[in-house]
Amino acid sequence: MSAAREHAQIIMQALERAGYQAYLVGGCVRDLLLSRPVHDYDIATSASPEQVQSLFPRTVPTGLRHGTVTVLVEQEAYEVTTFRTEGRYEDHRRPETVKFVTDLEEDLARRDFTINAMALSSAGTLVDCFGGQSDLRDGIIRCVGNPERRFEEDALRMLRAIRFSAQLGFSVENKTLHAASVCAPLCAALSAERVRDEMEKTLCSPQPEKIGLMIDLGLLHHLNLKSHGDLSALAAVPPDRLSRWAMACLLLPSLDLTSLRLDRHTTQICTKAAHVSPALVDRISCKRAIADYGWETAELAGVLSGQADTFASIRQSGDCVTLSDLAVRGQDFPDLKGPEIFEQLRGLLYHVLEHPEDNQKDRLLAIRNPLPAGDSNF
Ligand code: ATP
Ligand code: MG
Repeated sequence: MSAAREHAQIIMQALERAGYQAYLVGGCVRDLLLSRPVHDYDIATSASPEQVQSLFPRTVPTGLRHGTVTVLVEQEAYEVTTFRTEGRYEDHRRPETVKFVTDLEEDLARRDFTINAMALSSAGTLVDCFGGQSDLRDGIIRCVGNPERRFEEDALRMLRAIRFSAQLGFSVENKTLHAASVCAPLCAALSAERVRDEMEKTLCSPQPEKIGLMIDLGLLHHLNLKSHGDLSALAAVPPDRLSRWAMACLLLPSLDLTSLRLDRHTTQICTKAAHVSPALVDRISCKRAIADYGWETAELAGVLSGQADTFASIRQSGDCVTLSDLAVRGQDFPDLKGPEIFEQLRGLLYHVLEHPEDNQKDRLLAIRNPLPAGDSNF
């Protein structure tokens, strides 16, 4: 048993000793049953937030209004949430109110999918009121209850359905899928950050091309993503976020990362890499891209254009590819002024990209004012 699982057991048993019910719930139960790595052990309890606070010496009032208290065990944090139902969803975003309840089944019924709506007691008893185990076995994402109603309550669930199907390699059950196509326009009301996070998890999953299913269903219509071509190239790049977002930019030209509120660095590097990558066809074009855009952007563009090995080989060669690798500096040209110096250095850099053997101070000073075409007797 992992240390985290043991901590969760300690918390659940303390709650039980005090006379309350306590269960592991949601994603951790799903992942334990699938023997997948567990990210967070979330605990649901019949104790009120105040009762949880008084029972443990170290707690943080993370979201008391929603019933969540974070309990600290050693250096690790565990969310303990009081059984609750959710009130009306005012704007398809989040529940206006939550109501604390004493019945576990009511808490499980508010959860999105059957595979996410199971609970596990400290003694190992599984509570599965909605057929989660059989859907796990069959590889099916199915809403708890009426899918249209569930999507009307929170439109994010439509994106989550596709995201889980991409992460787990599951299929989305027919009624759930149909309801998503009907309710798709409700996604326009979601915050950009929530949509972005689901898109990113899908892109970084083993089936990133399922972003195409989000588009086909109309879930990303408000982002101007209405159609797409072949997205199989997504899975061909490594599953890190920069590679996958950059490939998405290349394959989906109308994708605008700024509107998804991605951070500046990700937005800039991915957009540029997608723009640069078609030009990377050989070693020299890769070197030129490094000189023009810097290693990080050029290398990412190289990943997109299948030139990762070329970049590795350039790196290993130690060839001069940036101004700071050049064997001369601005002060080697005392007769030139600011912009002229820069132009001179860039001219020499472009020369050296094709003639690495010329990156020596005496040679570069001799060929200053780059050679007329065809004249390279060095
Ligand atoms: P992950 O591995 O991505 O963390 P997870 O299933 O733990 O997957 P979370 O977003 O951490 O997903 O949510 C924890 C649990 O809370 C879910 O398993 C589900 O039971 C419930 N849940 C989360 N978001 C929603 C939602 N929008 N609607 C209904 N239930 C939800
Ligand atoms: Mg989680």
